[in-house]
Amino acid sequence: MAEQPDDDKKARILVVEDEEAIRRGLCDVLAYHGHAPIEAATGDRGLELALGGAFSLVLLDIMLPGRSGYEVCRELRARGEDVPVLMLTARGREEDVLEGFRCGADDYVTKPFSVAELTARVEAILRRSGGLREERDACFDFGPWRIDPSNLRADDGTQRIDLTRRELAILELFLRERGRIVSRRTLLAEIWRAPDPDRLETRTVDMQIAKLRKKLDGDTASLLETVRGAGYRFGS
Ligand code: CA
Repeated sequence: MAEQPDDDKKARILVVEDEEAIRRGLCDVLAYHGHAPIEAATGDRGLELALGGAFSLVLLDIMLPGRSGYEVCRELRARGEDVPVLMLTARGREEDVLEGFRCGADDYVTKPFSVAELTARVEAILRRSGGLREERDACFDFGPWRIDPSNLRADDGTQRIDLTRRELAILELFLRERGRIVSRRTLLAEIWRAPDPDRLETRTVDMQIAKLRKKLDGDTASLLETVRGAGYRFGS
């Protein structure tokens, strides 16, 4: 039997980046990992393609000729297009990251990107939107807490508390994203499985995090840091 490429399993990923060498590099990495990259060199072309739909993910540079990445992302959200957006930001420019989240981006990778980082971000988003969940029952540490997923328990040596499944899922997400800003959109998409995160009030997320902090932290908020206007962060 002849081998057929399994096109159904390929994720169509739009790469919007004006620097050709970087665009080619991104597409090569994505293709190598079995995805189907489609290129755009300007913001306007990227927006046009993205609105055409059927993408699993958009990689979006910020500085583009014509429409910027921020404008493209804002326009997509304004038109109800909920495709996950991964912003390409410059290393050390946290302002870019925050502005990306404000415009409705889901996540970010920093340039110059490492292949490992890019691949990890892309796979995390695809796994999230595909609704797949890995079973992970091994105990793990979260700050002073030892978390036992199979018994939904946390223990810090002096006290033991019970966790809900949702709280456990939130801790696992923050552990995976350690040191990175996690947007409310990501929390809504991954924890609440909201098909359209913008419809759910972000207050839902804030209330749940506040509750979890109270459980783990008492009155301090040292474990889960609030990143103003963007989301939350665990560790740094
Ligand atoms: Ca650029």
